Amino acid sequence: MEEKINMYGLTLDELKAQMVGLGQKEYRAKQLYSWLYKKDVSSFDEMSDVSKDFREVLKQRYTLDLPTIFTSQESSDGTIKLLYKLADGQKIETVLMRYIYGNAICITSEVGCNMACAFCASGLLKKVRNVTSAEMVGQLIAMNRLLKERGEDKLVSHIVVMGTGEPFDNYDNVIRFIRVANCQFGLDIGARHITVSTAGVVPKIIQYGREGLQVNLAVSLHAPTNELRDKIMPINKAYPLEKLIPAVMDYYQNSKREVTFEYILINNFNDTEECCKKLIELIKPTKGFVNLIPYNEVMENDFKRPSNNRVHFFHDMLLRAGIKTTIRKEFGADIDAACGQLRARYEKKRSN
Ligand code: SAH
Repeated sequence: MEEKINMYGLTLDELKAQMVGLGQKEYRAKQLYSWLYKKDVSSFDEMSDVSKDFREVLKQRYTLDLPTIFTSQESSDGTIKLLYKLADGQKIETVLMRYIYGNAICITSEVGCNMACAFCASGLLKKVRNVTSAEMVGQLIAMNRLLKERGEDKLVSHIVVMGTGEPFDNYDNVIRFIRVANCQFGLDIGARHITVSTAGVVPKIIQYGREGLQVNLAVSLHAPTNELRDKIMPINKAYPLEKLIPAVMDYYQNSKREVTFEYILINNFNDTEECCKKLIELIKPTKGFVNLIPYNEVMENDFKRPSNNRVHFFHDMLLRAGIKTTIRKEFGADIDAACGQLRARYEKKRSN
């Protein structure tokens, strides 16, 4: 028998095509979407306006499997970190962060990661496989169900694809996930509330700008010269700054959306006045914003966070140069906040 398809992974257009393939009218797809995303049922049998016979057909072909919660941590600031278990036993992390404007979920796009950035805990575990679009939708639905169970009135309203993995190494699934999330009949999350973060996969940045989606792009820059970036991000060898910056400008021209450059501040590495000057020169023509991230220290390396004074000095210098800059708010300082830490801990325990 053919393998069943997880219905959460299908865009509305894909589901329409499948329904037509089953001899149904296109409207079936919207009807099913409404059960999945508005009424949030967990079985085909709850779909009371679908005939019993057709529910049997659906059960033969599709599943509504969701990731299950393997373990969770909650911070005193309300941040929730879940370690989900997937159908094949793989584990991934998903985080919920509380902002004044709403709840943002940080989605994992790959099991492990091959980017091998020197500062990041996620890359300690190599990529095992892509996370499917159904598993990305599932991370959000299962989080919303947890919030509902707790009687919370605000569900997930913002999405950042910034968890473990390089989203543009799993491009098609990520785009599919965004289409389900953004669809008014689906999760109905506004495009401007969705951000994808890439380490700088140049051809996909260009493609992303041509998707016609009004979603945001963040680029993990972290260094203003090839010399420094080469030391911490191996991807810079394949896509150095002279390729990355024009790709960002191409994205801007096509999407008309300003890019956010993420810049981790690491003590005595990329936090000097000279680095800041070079950064300004590099990104000025792109019209991009900067999001400064005081480095989140992890046990596995010796990188340190700079003093608050240095962070503010860097921030002020960018602002004075006319570059819109924010300092990232820190969440979950009392739990395993840095990317990949919770999973790394469990996977290591397992292999010991
Ligand atoms: N691969 C994508 C998305 C996942 S990483 C990317 O590189 O953008 C999400 C963000 O967290 C990236 O900007 C990454 O550089 C940053 N990050 C990773 N480890 C960190 C740490 N220990 N402290 C602060 N930021 C970190």
